[in-house]
Amino acid sequence: MIIKIPKTIDELFDYKIKTNHEKIHIKNDNKTGLKAIISIHNTYRGPALGGCRFINYNSNSDAIYDALRLARGMTYKAAISNLALGGGKGVIIKPEKDFDRKALLESFGEFVQELGGVYITAVDSGTSVSDMDIIAQKTDFVTCSTNKGGDPAGATAFGVFKGIMAAVNFRLKRQDLEGLDILIQGAGNVGSLIAHHLKKLGANIIIADINVKAAEKLAATIGAKIIDSEKVFDTKCDIFVPCALGGILNPDTISKLQASIVAGAANNQLANISDAELLYKKNITYVPDYVINAGGLIEASSYYDGKYNKQIVDLEISKIYDTVDLILNESENSQKNSAIVADEIAERRFKIQN
Ligand code: NAD
Repeated sequence: MIIKIPKTIDELFDYKIKTNHEKIHIKNDNKTGLKAIISIHNTYRGPALGGCRFINYNSNSDAIYDALRLARGMTYKAAISNLALGGGKGVIIKPEKDFDRKALLESFGEFVQELGGVYITAVDSGTSVSDMDIIAQKTDFVTCSTNKGGDPAGATAFGVFKGIMAAVNFRLKRQDLEGLDILIQGAGNVGSLIAHHLKKLGANIIIADINVKAAEKLAATIGAKIIDSEKVFDTKCDIFVPCALGGILNPDTISKLQASIVAGAANNQLANISDAELLYKKNITYVPDYVINAGGLIEASSYYDGKYNKQIVDLEISKIYDTVDLILNESENSQKNSAIVADEIAERRFKIQN
């Protein structure tokens, strides 16, 4: 397990080797100011599909590490979802000074095109559907553009809902949510849509968001209780649904957590992979994030193939229920925590190629 964040070229190279990345591509374009990274972790199952981040970084090495780390996560997400895709990620380092966003994105689109289809880009933190439309003018290897699916939030939320129902069936032996207190951290695109699904099945929704207006808007629409975002881990609930930030499950928050199930959309919920063991020891049923939040990827992959059919895609996303069920049962039978079990299943579904 890697604990130290790689900073130097030597450390980043070692990290790349240890985590079996196939390739890392770096591009700078002095004309537009583009500084971008495309990391290809694994293409055994197919081309590497993964979003493009466009955010500030403290250093170039932080950006490279982010690309490597996130690309690897996409390999696992595609494999656990049985998609014919590998794992990759794009990162555009947001310039500190004024920049021409369109020119930067066009240059990134050319970068994607130069790789000839081994990497397919999509939306991620800091990029939007309209950004994908700009990129699509320079490359075919893009999804989540207006013509190829758009915003994946609806598909992601539907998949998370299915995963929650699987966890409820496994842990609470029920198929409804009547009277269950479900705390959603983050009333953004995905969290709001999940809340609607859960409310329909009778859940009592509790919302926490640092953006009070977002929380109030959602609460008014579905009838929900709002709590202070600082009080999330002091609030008793049956199910905790993280839909805001990564790294929120750590020894301190886990010691306070009063839910019996954790199942939500946020990426990288565990501050450290070893925190899955803390949840397991506390008898909290944890649904690994990359398993439950794969709905958007499943939808994006079908748009990319040009074979989009809503019924088929919904059916594929619904299979998240079966995958969660498989993982939780295997965890119980093998007495291993669910994060380890999910990784092991994913690893059986791809081969390291370098
Ligand atoms: P979003 O930006 O629309 O919503 C996030 C919400 O969380 C915002 O309303 C924000 O104010 C709130 N928030 C931020 N910090 C908070 C805090 N400390 N406490 C409470 N609320 C806080 O993002 P989204 O698209 O809804 O995605 C939510 C999460 O799901 C992210 O972690 C994202 O990476 C992950 N995810 C999203 C998708 C997708 O299709 N959008 C797919 C996979 C994973």
